[in-house]
Amino acid sequence: MQIIFLGLPGAGKGTQAQTICEDFGIAHVATGDMFRTAKASGSPLGEKLRSYIDFGRLVPDDVTIEIVRERLHQADAQKGFLLDGFPRTIPQAQALDEMLTQMGKPLSHVLYLQVRTEELLTRLTGRRVCAKCGTSYHVAFNPPQHEGICDRCGGVLSQRADDTPEAVAVRLQENLDRTTALAAFYEARGLLTRVNGEEAIGTVYSAIRQTLRGGRS
Ligand code: ADP
Ligand code: AMP
Repeated sequence: MQIIFLGLPGAGKGTQAQTICEDFGIAHVATGDMFRTAKASGSPLGEKLRSYIDFGRLVPDDVTIEIVRERLHQADAQKGFLLDGFPRTIPQAQALDEMLTQMGKPLSHVLYLQVRTEELLTRLTGRRVCAKCGTSYHVAFNPPQHEGICDRCGGVLSQRADDTPEAVAVRLQENLDRTTALAAFYEARGLLTRVNGEEAIGTVYSAIRQTLRGGRS
């Protein structure tokens, strides 16, 4: 199973991907998480990435495509993977096509989580993320049982450097037209399923599961 979760920042991709990957036993390939790990390592690449990520700008295609290419060749991705946050541009989608053809692994599904911009702003500015396991929470919509502590692993929750109103505005600007273009790209190939990402987390999860199980609930 090779899946893409398409959607603007804050659409709920990471929240759903975590559970779906556990359910189906596939690798969660989240470019944003990979870039943040590189940034935290303090390596020269990490320092270069900081100037894009913290301000909400897209990392250049060549860097992004290469990091995904390496990741998809790792052992845990051989049984299937879910791409979360990639592709974000048409050149990335074309490069992915080439990679998957070479690997003999066609895409199974592209799920487009659709959420209005006003709702995304509220979601992103209220998001809190576990520093240890990456689980996403929301101060109002999906709070942890104990404030500031991750339910899953007990890690400390904090706000992402790019979840400030300024960086969120840049991220939406960078991604709005590109996401629409990507949806059209995959719709033309008959791979796209639109999901109403504004429903409750559990309802969105059921809709995704039903699509992935070929219409069965
Ligand atoms: P993405 O990975 O697409 O950027 P996240 O999964 O991190 O988005 O979700 C963004 C924020 O919205 C988080 O604070 C998360 O808890 C919250 N969220 C995710 N799905 C929903 C939903 N269906 N309803 C309300 N809030 C949600
Ligand atoms: P995310 O965690 O998906 O919200 O991504 C966080 C940040 O990482 C983005 O704002 C970009 O700076 C960078 N990023 C993640 N995925 C990509 C991608 N496919 N192409 C370019 N930049 C990306």
